[in-house]
Amino acid sequence: MKIAILTSGGDSAGMNAVVRAAVKTGILRGCETWVVREGYEGLVRGNTGDSPPAHKDLPQLADGVDTQFVDNLRFGDGDLLKNGLGDYAGTKGRSLKGRYIVRVGWDDVRYWLAEGGTLIGTARSAAFRTHEGRLSAAHNMIKEGIDALMVCGGDGSLTGADIFRSEWPSLVDELKSLGRVTESQATRHAHLKIVGLVGSIDNDMSMTDLTIGAPTALQRICEAIDNINSTAFSHSRAFVLEVMGRHCGWLALLAGVAGGADFIFIPEKPPKSPWEDEMCAAISHHREVGKRKTIVIIAEGAHDHELNPIRADYVKDVLTERLGLDTRVTTLGHTQRGGRPCAWDRILPTLQGIEAIEALLEATPETPSYMIGVQENSITRVPLMEAVATTKAVSTAIEAKDFATAMSLRDPEFCESLDGFFATSVLSNEKVLPPAKRMNIAIMHMGAPAGGMNAATRAATRYCLQQGHTPIAIYNGFRGLLDDNIEELTWLGVDSWMSRGGSELGTNRMLPDTDIGAIATKFQKFNFQGIMLIGGFEAFSALLLLEEGRKHYPSFNIPMVHLPATISNNVPVTEYSLGSDTSLNALVDACDAIKQSASASRNRVFVVETQGGKCGYIATMGALACGASLVYTPEVGVSLDTLRRDVRFMKARYNLDAKGKSEGRIVIKNEASSNVYTTDVMTKMFKEEGGQLFDSRSAQLGHTLQGGVPSPIDRARAVRLSLKCMTFMEREWAKIQSSGQSSPRASPESAAVITIQSGSIKWVPVRDMVQHADMKNRRPLNPWWMNVKEMVESLAGRPQLVKLHAWDFA
Ligand code: ADP
Repeated sequence: MKIAILTSGGDSAGMNAVVRAAVKTGILRGCETWVVREGYEGLVRGNTGDSPPAHKDLPQLADGVDTQFVDNLRFGDGDLLKNGLGDYAGTKGRSLKGRYIVRVGWDDVRYWLAEGGTLIGTARSAAFRTHEGRLSAAHNMIKEGIDALMVCGGDGSLTGADIFRSEWPSLVDELKSLGRVTESQATRHAHLKIVGLVGSIDNDMSMTDLTIGAPTALQRICEAIDNINSTAFSHSRAFVLEVMGRHCGWLALLAGVAGGADFIFIPEKPPKSPWEDEMCAAISHHREVGKRKTIVIIAEGAHDHELNPIRADYVKDVLTERLGLDTRVTTLGHTQRGGRPCAWDRILPTLQGIEAIEALLEATPETPSYMIGVQENSITRVPLMEAVATTKAVSTAIEAKDFATAMSLRDPEFCESLDGFFATSVLSNEKVLPPAKRMNIAIMHMGAPAGGMNAATRAATRYCLQQGHTPIAIYNGFRGLLDDNIEELTWLGVDSWMSRGGSELGTNRMLPDTDIGAIATKFQKFNFQGIMLIGGFEAFSALLLLEEGRKHYPSFNIPMVHLPATISNNVPVTEYSLGSDTSLNALVDACDAIKQSASASRNRVFVVETQGGKCGYIATMGALACGASLVYTPEVGVSLDTLRRDVRFMKARYNLDAKGKSEGRIVIKNEASSNVYTTDVMTKMFKEEGGQLFDSRSAQLGHTLQGGVPSPIDRARAVRLSLKCMTFMEREWAKIQSSGQSSPRASPESAAVITIQSGSIKWVPVRDMVQHADMKNRRPLNPWWMNVKEMVESLAGRPQLVKLHAWDFA
């Protein structure tokens, strides 16, 4: 099959990752891969210039070798595409002048993961909206023999794709009757196969949980808020921030949650009128308790109940005139579009690009065009037009002022985030619960610090205060508890914790069995009625011990929860722990820099050692996100045979590189993947075997992986999970109290771990967790990401290149 890939509409981070994954997967599946420059405009213009010659400096291969993979490896115009030469003539007689539909090879998409925007260009094409334009597009595709089209863009682009496909047979007939295509061309191209991927920073597409580019845009916005926070605090100013989102408030909402904003305006849920009063009341209340800074976030498409737009300048005037605040407006504009994609905008587009190729290979004239999405942590195929229609229904509901319907069409996470925003931003003198239902809730951090621990504590504190509970910080883990190192947390005291990395409460690895009796006494002394342990495997083990301790110590008969937070993501059952996203981003940042350095001087293989204990999550997902060539994990281990194959692969790979250019490659190795083949041994081995071909160095990322500032995904997740923990404890406490016994016993279900399974939140009693855990190695038994290692190595061409090296290179 000949597959062409285009990007269309507004650009977004991650589009290059889609193209890269699709090109590589296409080639691996025996297809010819093409890109279309400048979106639909490129299809309409087609090719007028001459075909550029392919690379000529391929190594001579022995007779009998299937050279198709090697051809595809080096075929193409990658340098031209990457260097943005566009219509200008390139070097060595190759040029893209007059050529918009271009065949590309494996190496043309090298390093594309780390690039923002879209290297193949995008455009808004008026011509493609016309019949003539689409006729020309069809003609140009048939001339080049393209069978299938992959479109990455927003709902406009995907609508265009579907129209194109439905019209295709009539376009082909017309071209035939005009004599522009032959009978055999018309027969061969009777049907067009199409697949769509959603590239949009707004996260505005229905039937997918996350669009390509949205996480990076959110990251850019949160970086801006973090920067603004410090100047706002210094001058005690108010800032009104306008962010993108015409019909969808996702960016404004998540930025509000993750950035700890005071007030937000989103299109789906306009504030109550007169909103000026509500906003001023909320903000002056925050100021009364001593807050020095104010952040208001407005989505571009925000409006009131009557659909009158709410503009940043007007909000600024209200804050200045009514509250006397020194207020500034910041419009983030195009900075939000991108720059370097964050880890998740590399992983998702890669997985989706792979799936898109499979969908095209399986497509028949009878199957609908699919849109590739992600739902419940799985890559999905949904009928493209259904997704576009549901998306349009949101805008229609908003235009009809039916905001309840608009909200109902958003996914549950959106609604939970909104609840989370209110719970963490509203400060009220009224307590929600009557005194009899109020609790003393203790919060403890355990194990190593992880991004989002502080955000979770902030959310819990604010929720508790709103409900009437007393949030109690236990500093320095169980050791601190034994030293009576506890304190009541306050609304203002936790204000800046959203963006703080590390652990404000302090953590250590001491488990309660060190002196469980004394710990039970402290529970009693401080009258804890619920406890939240935030941490990794230690917190899980501690909760197990506390639950077992209930037999002997009545003070443990309270709701007890574990909120998983660890960069290793090694807590069983849950798909994500807090901190794992921050850590992936830290790994990607480091590897991008290392790869740059590795390529700068000479051919060099960098063996990068990651933390993670005996769990290979960070190494594996990090390898996928930074385009590593190999990854070693403790789950799979390392053997002499694998090492020999890997050396052969590296040699074959460097042999096929263009001569005279230096290339850096990354090998990611978890710290515990082998006791014998250590990072040092591996680095020396690659150096020795590389000979004249390549050199080798190592880098140990160590504690840098804890990341500085927690990522927005970790912060938002922290808020969502922490609030669920609080309501869980309220529920369980009510059950314990209503049992009517003088010394009530808590059920096993009331000591539980909050987990994310298939994207949904589920409670698992800590006792039941044990059956899913490899307690000795401190990791899950069957983690969901196990097949990703193979994917990483496929995308590096390892299986093909290992075989190739069986033949000598001339
Ligand atoms: P986005 O894809 O980001 O929503 P647009 O709505 O601007 O961006 O669409 C991008 C391009 O997709 C348009 O410039 C046009 O070429 C094509 N397109 C959009 N809607 C249609 C349509 N109804 N028919 C044909 N082409 C369309």
